Amino acid sequence: MITPEGERAASVHIAGGRITQVGEYDVDADVDAGDSVVMPGIVDTHVHVNDPGREEWEGFETATRSAAAGGVTTILDMPLNSIPATVSVAALEAKRAAARGKSTVNVEFIGGVVPGNADQIRPLADAGVRAFKCFLTPSGVDEFPNVTEEDLRIAFPFLAKTGLPLMVHSEDPSCLITPLAPSRRYAAYLASRPVEAEQSAIALLIRLMEWCPTPVHIVHLSSAKSLDLIKDAKSRGLPLTVETCPHYLTFAAEEIPDGATEFKCAPPIREAAERDALWNALIAGDIDLVASDHSPCPPSMKESDGNFFGCWGGIASLQLTLSAVWTGARARKCSPSDVAQWMCASTAHLAGLADKRGAIAAGFDADIAIWNPDASFVVVPSALYHRHPVTPYAGRELFGVVSRTFVKGKEIGFVH
Ligand code: ZN
Repeated sequence: MITPEGERAASVHIAGGRITQVGEYDVDADVDAGDSVVMPGIVDTHVHVNDPGREEWEGFETATRSAAAGGVTTILDMPLNSIPATVSVAALEAKRAAARGKSTVNVEFIGGVVPGNADQIRPLADAGVRAFKCFLTPSGVDEFPNVTEEDLRIAFPFLAKTGLPLMVHSEDPSCLITPLAPSRRYAAYLASRPVEAEQSAIALLIRLMEWCPTPVHIVHLSSAKSLDLIKDAKSRGLPLTVETCPHYLTFAAEEIPDGATEFKCAPPIREAAERDALWNALIAGDIDLVASDHSPCPPSMKESDGNFFGCWGGIASLQLTLSAVWTGARARKCSPSDVAQWMCASTAHLAGLADKRGAIAAGFDADIAIWNPDASFVVVPSALYHRHPVTPYAGRELFGVVSRTFVKGKEIGFVH
């Protein structure tokens, strides 16, 4: 069992949805996990559920079922790709109504920062959002326009008063290269979104934090080349955190076949050397956490005759995040406790939930994942609970098989 004091044989006692006690190993327990890992349920701080408005992309029922099957017990729902986008309290209430009665894991919400809605920041915080999110480049949907530096200079003082983190899609649009023609070549797509775009955006955010210190969280870091900037900002006490995602830790640009649009996401999956550098940074603690960036769409939106510039960018991986990350972690001699740090404790902290989730300890919610770190499986898309099983993980062998998931002490059923 993974506890705040380390990995040990133990028993966990549950009543009323909470953990009442973590005691010595007990052979007569109701549930015997055997040699499996008993871990806090994963808190995934980056999930797009497109409900309401684009339920045909993904809905709360399918998203939360796939979460449970992957050992994820809390999701933070991103404010975009649903209609309405979560940029006002009324929209947040529409989101909550859509999730109600359909969700088998805990669902928390993120508010959007878009041009002109700074006056909604305080009301959204008061209504219970866990964080805010903005884009520096076009987001891909019209309801969620990107912000400029000018917009952020208006929003930052409002954000600072809430204390909630601003999650930022960090690419500088002026560094992106507009394609001259459709292309099936992955290299052409990769070249259109260079590392410099990420570096320039992060530099801007650090400048803004120096002007008005408020927590900023860089989502989906795709390259280790910005880490010197990030480490330097952190060392000066700026409240900056950073995540990467399972696809940047698993795949490499050199291995992506031309026309394989299931690998398209933004920023793009980069070379193997970048993947390895991201791993080193994660292990060193320079990257704070891993979140899925589960970003589904209907299969038709991925079909573009293989043209990378004509299809939706996003990878749906909620159900596979633990296994994908563990597969890479295991190969690098990390432990399940490391994974729990990146995907349970650190993410719960970012979400302001560290007092009740992300750890197996007395008083915490009884959100638990039981999984076998030595067992492996081959990803069969039809076995995924995501609404659309389009996945770049198809056919890949992953280690880490989730057998049981409990949310507030209640087991959530699924079959693999
Ligand atoms: Zn995202």
